[in-house]
Amino acid sequence: MKILVIGGGASGMMAALTASEKDHNEVLLVERQSRVGRKLLSTGNGRCNLSNRNLSLQNYHGDAVTFCSYALEHFSVEQTLAYFRSLGLLTVTEPSGRVYPYSDSANSVVDVLRLPLEQRKNVQILTGCEILSLRKRDGRFIAKTAQEELHADRVILCAGGLAGSKLGGTDMGYKLLASFGHSRTKLLPSLVQLKTDTTFVRALKGVRAEALVTYGKAKARGELQFTDYGVSGPVIFELSRGAVGGELMIDLLPDIHESELLDLLQCRCKTMPELRAEDLLTGILHNRLGRTLLRACGISLEQHCDEIYDLNRVVKMCKSFGLTVQGNMGMDQAQVTAGGIKTEEFDPQTMESRLCPGLYAAGEVLDVDGDCGGYNLQWAWSSGRLAGELRGKA
Ligand SMILES: Cc1cc2nc3c(=O)[nH]c(=O)nc-3n(C[C@H](O)[C@H](O)[C@H](O)COP(=O)(O)OP(=O)(O)OC[C@H]3O[C@@H](n4cnc5c(N)ncnc54)[C@H](O)[C@@H]3O)c2cc1C
Repeated sequence: MKILVIGGGASGMMAALTASEKDHNEVLLVERQSRVGRKLLSTGNGRCNLSNRNLSLQNYHGDAVTFCSYALEHFSVEQTLAYFRSLGLLTVTEPSGRVYPYSDSANSVVDVLRLPLEQRKNVQILTGCEILSLRKRDGRFIAKTAQEELHADRVILCAGGLAGSKLGGTDMGYKLLASFGHSRTKLLPSLVQLKTDTTFVRALKGVRAEALVTYGKAKARGELQFTDYGVSGPVIFELSRGAVGGELMIDLLPDIHESELLDLLQCRCKTMPELRAEDLLTGILHNRLGRTLLRACGISLEQHCDEIYDLNRVVKMCKSFGLTVQGNMGMDQAQVTAGGIKTEEFDPQTMESRLCPGLYAAGEVLDVDGDCGGYNLQWAWSSGRLAGELRGKA
């Protein structure tokens, strides 16, 4: 059987490898970029956070999120890591549950997928080749590229989402599926940096802090990074799904109780009354962050500590620093697309289209997105594996 896999990203490579396990399958993997796994190389800041051992359905989002349960159980985290080990990849799990290659390099993940694909006799890889249209005639699929027509008995569409366009994000997957009558939900950037009021933030560019951030009803704790346009970092990514306005409340000392901090500041003012205000928070917060918070309280950095009458205000500023969200950095910068092709149009136990037998889809093109922490790649592996088994009705 001829199998066409569209997209040589995470789910596409996994689907192609899986389909090639059956000798009678002839697999053609087509990738529009000049190499396979381009986006994977940039994942996890070049380290590739490929999975997470603390995975549950709560880490996933979408209009019908239970859709992803079957694939995630069928090819679970443990099975995925055992599979990668069988390909020669050693991994380490951080205390948070995040899994990385032992080499700390995303290259290793791409290589252990690419090498067997290149070795297997029944796999052909075509790079620098974009599928521009796809149709089905007399039970066979015909895919058009700029140069030729490709024919296949089964198609696995793994074209990814719109996020991270510089790394391969495109809307082609949605368009190709739409030509078979598939529809999609609204697309929004997720795991993306947020633009905020920069009055105080601009001076903090490059400063990182452990923070507990509240945004509407959502709360997350982790590393926060200040930038010249607003805020970034894992804790922001976690809260960024669909974020366009509202206020972030940031606790910059999540392990210190307000009363403890007040005691500390009172003691400092008492023992060092002549200390300049600019050093009131020295040793407690990053120097630039401390001074910015004092400025936000309206305190002159030149004055002496014993002239600061409202230490409670300083405490409040450290524990709930408010920032108005003015938008997000958009799809180009986002790590993942929230929304996608409606999952009800696919069979969760096979990943086969309910509208077109023989057509499968996997990965980010579907309306499934995960939290920050390896969940998106795990979805790509699990759904790619299931689709590659080609267990549909056709
Ligand atoms: C900067 C960044 C960092 C990230 N870090 C992490 C992380 O550490 N952990 C994690 O879990 N997730 C991470 N993600 C998200 C994760 O990379 C994606 O969710 C995942 O790669 C999706 O897999 P996919 O196979 O669906 O799509 P992709 O990996 O995007 O692959 C789709 C491929 O299809 C190709 N393609 C598209 N249309 C066509 C066409 N018509 N013809 C031929 N080829 C086509 C594209 O060029 C692309 O190579 C990150 C994303 C970004 C942008």
